[in-house]
Amino acid sequence: MDLSQVSNEITKVLVTEEQITAKVAELAAQIDAKYAGKDVLLIGVLKGAVMFMADLSRAIQIPVQMDWMAVSSYGSGTVSSGVVRILKDLDADVLGRHVIIVEDIIDSGLTLSWLASNLEARGAASVEIVAFLRKPDAAKVDVKVAMVGFDIPNEFVVGYGLDYAENYRTLKGVAVLSPAVYN
Ligand code: IMP
Ligand code: MG
Repeated sequence: MDLSQVSNEITKVLVTEEQITAKVAELAAQIDAKYAGKDVLLIGVLKGAVMFMADLSRAIQIPVQMDWMAVSSYGSGTVSSGVVRILKDLDADVLGRHVIIVEDIIDSGLTLSWLASNLEARGAASVEIVAFLRKPDAAKVDVKVAMVGFDIPNEFVVGYGLDYAENYRTLKGVAVLSPAVYN
């Protein structure tokens, strides 16, 4: 869906479709250079990372596999709870493999720091994180993010996989959700 369809529900467009395409190509090239010749497993975090995973994985030119995990973070609210629960685990074994966690956004970083240690504990050869978006608070937590698409202000955003109560995921770009929608 085009952002213009929800112009009354958003206050600002942060990232356009064109900017996403260019950034995804850049990130994919970094992964190609860094991981050539390695056994790479991209792990997408459902459901927010679906769009980013679909675009990034196809822009990557080296052979990689994909798997998915679902973890709980926010429920349907807009503030991170810090409670992480596995709702859907991997199908693949990560033992000895180079894992790249593909995430939509790092806010508090709680979800990702937990996930990275969890995958390291399963014996992955390496675990790195590529996040499409990053909010300022992410700097406060000790989570090593190898690659970031865009740094954004501390506002609640939707689109390109990111939702508010399961809505707006299919928007082609990223926009700040009008507080009127959730207040
Ligand atoms: P963290 O554990 O606080 O870093 O939260 C990460 C997760 O919260 C992300 O994977 C998103 O699912 C969700 N999230 C954080 N900020 C936003 C936002 O601005 N819009 C939509 N979802 C968000
Ligand atoms: Mg998510």
